[in-house]
Amino acid sequence: MENIENVIILGSGCAGLTAAIYTARAGLAPLVIEGGQPGGQLTTTSEIENFPGFPDGIDGFSLTENMRKQAARFGARFAGDTIASVALAPADAPDEKRLSGSGGKTYVARALIVATGAAPRKLGLPDEEKFYGGNGLTFCATCDGAFYRRMEVAVVGGGDSACEEALFLTRFATRVHLVHRRDKLRASDIMAARVLAHEKISPVWDSVPAEILADADGLVRGLVCRNVKTGALAELACKGIFAAIGHEPNTQALRGALKTDPAGYIVASDASGVRTEIPGVFVAGDCSDHVYRQAITAAGMGCRAAIEAERWLAETFA
Ligand code: NAP
Repeated sequence: MENIENVIILGSGCAGLTAAIYTARAGLAPLVIEGGQPGGQLTTTSEIENFPGFPDGIDGFSLTENMRKQAARFGARFAGDTIASVALAPADAPDEKRLSGSGGKTYVARALIVATGAAPRKLGLPDEEKFYGGNGLTFCATCDGAFYRRMEVAVVGGGDSACEEALFLTRFATRVHLVHRRDKLRASDIMAARVLAHEKISPVWDSVPAEILADADGLVRGLVCRNVKTGALAELACKGIFAAIGHEPNTQALRGALKTDPAGYIVASDASGVRTEIPGVFVAGDCSDHVYRQAITAAGMGCRAAIEAERWLAETFA
């Protein structure tokens, strides 16, 4: 028979760790199931300049590591597992939330906070998979940028992520081609201005990736782009391609168990923004929020979910 946890938190990004700090300080000894990317998306962000309290900025890894230590200090516990399936109100025990880990371990909780985040969207090219994992196609300039010292690279996308990646890559690459499907960046004005003023960054407007070219060793040697207005194909010589075209919510294991919108984001059931239609199940961060998607908004949702969970536990199991 499994131990019944007061509260299990799925995910260890900003939302999950903030929920862990709050529920731990409330004496609930939360169990955080860390998921496939401990620390979440922030661990792949270089410099965070807009998280309040850090006037000189902080790198994403340090910020999440600090949060983790803070949660552990108050009694949060961590499990290095990923949840494959859930039963959120089983007929034989409607108050229990049962979770199955990918390795077969099961977990039971009274309250559940879902903070599973989102993952970067793939380009949708036929051969794309074979280029991930060290062959030249990646989502993370912070992780892989240094491999492209004195080489040309391409970044795909026109949002803040693409601009951040492009700017970071200028530290290493000789040229950064920024491939965007329109002729105006979606990124915030300040980011767009920095990118457009940078001598190493060349925008490739109105263009989408059409084909990744490989060398004899199977490594990226170029990217063929298709102009969406003219249909013309153009070849960029580049050794690295950085995809930065948005995200998909990590909610596959929860679909069917919780209400999601057509894109898979979990839908809150009321104005709290964190309660779901299942009593005792709460949601926080990028798996639910596709509008703001900031570290600070995810942390804020984590806090709200934790307070709601604490109140619900006190009312339900008093
Ligand atoms: P985003 O804002 O959704 O931008 C995605 C970009 O990819 C858009 O330019 C979009 O083109 C393009 N795109 C989407 N699907 C595509 C496809 N299939 N093929 C080609 N291009 C495609 O995503 P994001 O840049 O990851 O940013 C997400 C959120 O995080 C935003 O709110 C952003 O402000 C925030 N953020 C902030 C910072 C910061 O403040 N330092 C850093 C990173 C992210 P269209 O423009 O045509 O739609």
